[in-house]
Amino acid sequence: MAALDGLPPLRDVIQRHGLDAKKALGQNFLLDLNLTQKIARTAGALEDVTVIEVGPGPGGLTRAILALGARKVVAIERDSRCLPALAEISDHYPDRLEVIEGDALKIDFEAISGGGPVKIIANLPYNVGTQLLVNWLLPKTWPPFWQSLTLMFQREVGLRIVADADDDHYGRLGVLCGWRTNARMAFDVPPQAFTPPPKVTSSVVHLEPIANPIPCAVTSLEKVTHAAFGQRRKMLRQSLKPLGGETLLAKADIDPQRRAETLSVDEFCRLANCL
Ligand code: SAM
Repeated sequence: MAALDGLPPLRDVIQRHGLDAKKALGQNFLLDLNLTQKIARTAGALEDVTVIEVGPGPGGLTRAILALGARKVVAIERDSRCLPALAEISDHYPDRLEVIEGDALKIDFEAISGGGPVKIIANLPYNVGTQLLVNWLLPKTWPPFWQSLTLMFQREVGLRIVADADDDHYGRLGVLCGWRTNARMAFDVPPQAFTPPPKVTSSVVHLEPIANPIPCAVTSLEKVTHAAFGQRRKMLRQSLKPLGGETLLAKADIDPQRRAETLSVDEFCRLANCL
């Protein structure tokens, strides 16, 4: 049966182009176009934005984004085997899909965004997903070039992204995301939704930038979160000893007996600013 967008079913596309999944590239494909539409819809209105997608693979999510009316999609794919399948989508949606063959970790996203409003949507390869997120959270200037990030991660990583203080998953990633964005968990996706199925449940998270995050040097924030969460069960007077311990904590007006996971993002910023 043909899909609603008039393109062939993804299973046929994968078979015809010999796209057997490569583990090293984190290839777990989504073939259900209802699910890919659900992910794309999480990003909100797409009509007036350029969508950047990392790792389109055979193009399931790409097709959903285009079907929902995105003005332009720029997709970065490392696996050249996927390019003919993506070219078929490009032909079906003239002038709306640009495919860049390359490693997303080496791409200057701001340069390819074309200057207009950008939303990033991706079912990320598990081995580079967190690094890409951190890069997007730390661009040269803030507010960033993107309006939102709608990203699929392993559920465990998703929980770390949206975690607040006093949550077991709260750590360096949660502080960074909480400092610069409003991050929320959108929904879970079970392993059997993918081909081949991964070992764990995945989650879609949605992040929107905070216009004016607390002013704070990233390097200082990273130093305090690294030291504090490096020994998360210890009291801060102990874990922060290399950075000044009790003196630093007194300066920031934080009880030295507290532990890393109890500190709010604001308090981490205060500590960073007192370094
Ligand atoms: N978007 C497709 C979907 O949802 O079915 C495929 C998602 S699959 C989890 C990850 C995709 O990212 C694969 O197509 C893989 O080839 C691609 N990929 C892996 N590493 C990459 C990298 N460093 N840069 C760009 N793409 C990469």
